[in-house]
Amino acid sequence: MSNAAELLYPRRCAICDGLLGKKELYVCTDCRDAVRFIRGPVCRKCGRPTEEGVLLCKTCAERRHAFEQSVSPYEYRDEMRRSVLRFKYSGRAEYAEFFARSMAVYAAEKIRLWKPELIVPVPVHPARKRKRGYNQSALIARILSSEWELPFDEKLLIRRKRTKPQTELDRTERQKNVAKAFRCERSRSVPGTVLLIDDILTTGSTLDACAEELKKAGAEKVYALCLCVDE
Ligand SMILES: [Zn+2]
Ligand SMILES: [Zn+2]
Repeated sequence: MSNAAELLYPRRCAICDGLLGKKELYVCTDCRDAVRFIRGPVCRKCGRPTEEGVLLCKTCAERRHAFEQSVSPYEYRDEMRRSVLRFKYSGRAEYAEFFARSMAVYAAEKIRLWKPELIVPVPVHPARKRKRGYNQSALIARILSSEWELPFDEKLLIRRKRTKPQTELDRTERQKNVAKAFRCERSRSVPGTVLLIDDILTTGSTLDACAEELKKAGAEKVYALCLCVDE
């Protein structure tokens, strides 16, 4: 970034929101160890941390998902939660770069296995996008698409219902909230394997609703990569 641009748009640490020094990339030196990737056993369906020896988390043991598998580098709490809230509600679109890099590193092996042919962000309702100025998942998806040299389609899935944030609802409400919330733009082509990108995985209802639509439109396999997984 040029010095003039730096003055106009000072870069901020994605974790503490403090100003970054010239040599600091996305996160300041103090915050470098403040957030860590999920380590240890995770649910093999949704990527949520589980106890040792437990294959599926409670949610995934109770119902079938429409997507094949999902992984997320971070848990949705503490510093990460505050960071995501600023990203979504306080205009910190610049954090997308840090988030996408983290997701790319964490999911590198999965992407080699899954071999997605198209990256599709979970859409936000047009009214919400207008208010926020961007779809947070699309910002991340765009960076991942250039990182992996995979096509990206922000217009394939359309959000037709303005839903409440999933994190504010209980499980039954979440499923109802997203039922029929999405539709696939039928004039666009859908390959066999699609990778969905979302910011937070809660119960997986949103991913299910998107995956169902994509499968109706011809996708055979739908995988997902989210930034965070909620407990
Ligand atoms: Zn910091
Ligand atoms: Zn699970």
